Amino acid sequence: MRIALSLAALGSLLAFGQPAPASIERGTLRLHYVQKPIGYERYEVTPDGDLSGRSASGAKADAVKLTADFDFTDRGGRVQLAATLRAKADFTPISFQAKGKSYRFVNVDSDVRVEGSDAVVRADGAVESRVTLPAQFFTVDGYAPFSAQMLLLRYWKLHGQPRVLRTVPGQPTNDVFIEARGREAIRIGEKVTTLERFAIDGVVWGRETLWLDERGSLAAAITRAGGLSFEAVREDLEPALVQFVQRATRDRISDLESITRVNAPLKSGTYAMVGATIVDGTNRPPVADGVVLVRDGRIADAGSRAAVPVPDGVPTVDVSGKTLVPGLWDMHTHVTQIEWAPVYLASGVTTVRDMGNEFEFITLLRDAIASKRALGPRLLLAGLVDGPGPNAFGVYYAATPDEAKQAVGKYHDAGFQQIKIYSLITPPLVEAICAEAHRLGMTVTGHVPNGMTIDQAATAGMDQIAHLAIRGEAGSDEVNRVIGVLRARKTVIDPTQSWNELLGHAAGTPIAAFQPGVAKIPPPLNRLFSNAGAAGIDAAAARARLERGLRIVKALHDAGVPVVAGTDEGIPGHSVHREIELYVEAGLTPLQALQAATIVPARAMKLDAELGTIEKGKRADMVVLNANPLERIQNIRSARWTIIDGRVYDTQALWRSVRFQP
Ligand SMILES: [Zn+2]
Repeated sequence: MRIALSLAALGSLLAFGQPAPASIERGTLRLHYVQKPIGYERYEVTPDGDLSGRSASGAKADAVKLTADFDFTDRGGRVQLAATLRAKADFTPISFQAKGKSYRFVNVDSDVRVEGSDAVVRADGAVESRVTLPAQFFTVDGYAPFSAQMLLLRYWKLHGQPRVLRTVPGQPTNDVFIEARGREAIRIGEKVTTLERFAIDGVVWGRETLWLDERGSLAAAITRAGGLSFEAVREDLEPALVQFVQRATRDRISDLESITRVNAPLKSGTYAMVGATIVDGTNRPPVADGVVLVRDGRIADAGSRAAVPVPDGVPTVDVSGKTLVPGLWDMHTHVTQIEWAPVYLASGVTTVRDMGNEFEFITLLRDAIASKRALGPRLLLAGLVDGPGPNAFGVYYAATPDEAKQAVGKYHDAGFQQIKIYSLITPPLVEAICAEAHRLGMTVTGHVPNGMTIDQAATAGMDQIAHLAIRGEAGSDEVNRVIGVLRARKTVIDPTQSWNELLGHAAGTPIAAFQPGVAKIPPPLNRLFSNAGAAGIDAAAARARLERGLRIVKALHDAGVPVVAGTDEGIPGHSVHREIELYVEAGLTPLQALQAATIVPARAMKLDAELGTIEKGKRADMVVLNANPLERIQNIRSARWTIIDGRVYDTQALWRSVRFQP
């Protein structure tokens, strides 16, 4: 019996490692966005040659052809992509075409033809270019279709499992890293399916998880799209969706633990930062040549060199010429992959508020960071609740007050600080959710639901509102009235202006014109954002639209409505800096803009006794900047070391750990 089993296992390994069979292979994958089923990918792999699968010489077909249709509807918008990949029997690509959309705002139009040792490549409507191919290569353009990644894995298996595999289209090629992560059994009732799990890094930014069955067919894949988790599962394995999410999550947390081990803090415990200009984040003037004494994760003292002597035996870190500011906050993020953790610390962000995520992933990541097994910013969680229906978002819905209570309770029990209301929650349920959340000591943020205005949402009990949902011009009676309501209720606004700018800039304006960070992002992100921007609008009109928003931000701030910096992701890390810069463009002083990303959010989350400024007794969350942002707000981009709970991290090493340039 034992022998038979191992022979069977050996047989399946061989089958997996063999060239394509000359028969038709079909697959259907159910697509999900944050676990909600939204569509299908259907694919077929056929012998490419005559119909018998034999070439003229009588040998087996020497080529295969993959055709794939990728099709989903997310919140009312249809997304479709068609792809064809022709390859030799050993899966070496011959040609590749993909056309359509892979996500709501991501257009794909790629064409690759291999000619000898070159490839003629056209991507995103750009002109054709000729790329010299390395001996080993593959053709893939983003996560969709997943079946192309299935053939990528088969190619990798058959070609000695190289550490790095070059792919086209790229810039001019792209580096993809693949790792086999082990075999496992997926259980659905009595049925056990044995799969092999892989991590793929570089097709998109960050690691994806794919599972192949014993015949090398794709069983499941988990990636990210438009910022959130995207899952593909073969139809018969659909009941195991959460098992797949959990296994992928464990893999990724263990990857972050590896990154943590090779990026140990440069300093921790007791030490003194000496010589920097301290911008403590209060309204007090900066302190030149200051000392910050750190003891066991907290600020033991801070002030001028004369006022704060360094006790004997305490090691010092010379930071003269640099500027110390409080650790930054991003109040609107979706930390959907572990790569965000190093990115945030690298950009000086020590606390983030997550605004909706995969429950299984974000709670484990939060716990790993809180226990210091993994590096990353402090994670505060808002749990997303939407109304039901085909246009709903996520998997937690509420249509009745009972369901609302249940959803709030689930998030509360898992340690979430907030509830995030989404667009389809009905007005009466807004009140029910707010009442239950407040009863449990939580606060409520989110979108202004459909059919409500921002002041109605605030009056119904929402403590905070995401995005700048105010129509009209600053200074108008109506806008003044709305701002009056928000001021009276102390409603906190995260206006996500950097996100509006990123999506709303004229398509003809390069992102680098307003966001220099784009030059430092890894190639897959670059290709993603090269599509961002609004068509049919010129640069002046796009700027005018942005400026209308900035005038409202200024009016809110002047009225005393708390404005907190949030990005909705954007260009990882760099968008936080852009958000702060935009507040200065709106007319806030550099210190006020910095406070919108430090003490104001700390107050909004009722954590200002612990966080938000560089003051005695608070947690030692600080950023050592190479230059002073009060002199020039763009200096907020110059983080050299980031300190969280007293642990000092080298930002350059952290950027590199996730394939960004420092
Ligand atoms: Zn968001």
